[in-house]
Amino acid sequence: MKKVKALILFSGGLDSILAAKILMEQGIEVKGITFESYFFNSENAKKGAKEMKLPLKIINFSEEHLKMVKNPKYGYGKAMNPCIDCHILMLKKAKEIMKKEKFNFVATGEVLGERPFSQNKKALELIEKESSLKGYLLRPFSAKLLKLTIPEKLNQVNRQKLLDISGRSRKRQIALAKKYKIKEYPTPAGGCLLTDLEFGKRLKELFQKYLKCKGNDIGLLKLGRHFWEDKIKIIVGRNERENKEIKKLAKKGDVLIEMKNYPGPSTLIRNYKKTKIPKKVFERAKKITQYYSTKARAKKDVNFEVKEKL
Ligand code: SF4
Repeated sequence: MKKVKALILFSGGLDSILAAKILMEQGIEVKGITFESYFFNSENAKKGAKEMKLPLKIINFSEEHLKMVKNPKYGYGKAMNPCIDCHILMLKKAKEIMKKEKFNFVATGEVLGERPFSQNKKALELIEKESSLKGYLLRPFSAKLLKLTIPEKLNQVNRQKLLDISGRSRKRQIALAKKYKIKEYPTPAGGCLLTDLEFGKRLKELFQKYLKCKGNDIGLLKLGRHFWEDKIKIIVGRNERENKEIKKLAKKGDVLIEMKNYPGPSTLIRNYKKTKIPKKVFERAKKITQYYSTKARAKKDVNFEVKEKL
């Protein structure tokens, strides 16, 4: 008999590891698919897949993902996390691969009711519909509480061996982790910057001031202290590593400020207005730079180096 093949959205978190195990236990051939964007990487997925010897396909969809994050059809969760749209986008990609590589169905580690925004019954149905996977999307954890899927109807998957987990309690997942001897795993949604409230505030502000922002602008959001002057941004490094990173991300038109005679932060001015930077912005940037150097803070003899990136 031809082997049943499943493609699973694999983040490397406990839920995706367990969902893959549940299917593998039924003799199904499972392959993982994971994504990289400006807001999350594939490190956890790579680690988890390696440990359980799961073949893994990595897709970088940064540009497309950023476009969606700017304007998600179904809105954001608590922070700037557009989880419903994000899942739809991932599953659309999974569907393309399912068709191309002849998988029987797509699976996820979603649990009914685990996340109020994106995993309630309505949201799960919506995600299935919008990703055009109707009938071909299996959620092994909650399958018994959801509609029968096509692979279940075709006996490619044994429904009896699937689960009926719902809600936010992690008890049954923890018990399963013990059963499968899984000791280490990252926290749920760990690693996605979009669920971070502080990062979300920065991102929201950037979208309000400059919706055309690109990957480089998002990269800067992950570093330093941020100050706005109208549509001009001042970013101040908090340590040696950030100073280096900020300099690396500087691009044509940016201004870099450092103190010549004291150690301290590297400061970058990025002008989203594209008009001449007013003098008061330079003065403010210098003041902030000096303030965040404990050695220079109270000094009167600070000399600055101001360089425009050409
Ligand atoms: S937590 Fe992040 S990666 Fe996960 S669905 Fe939400 S936005 Fe996407």
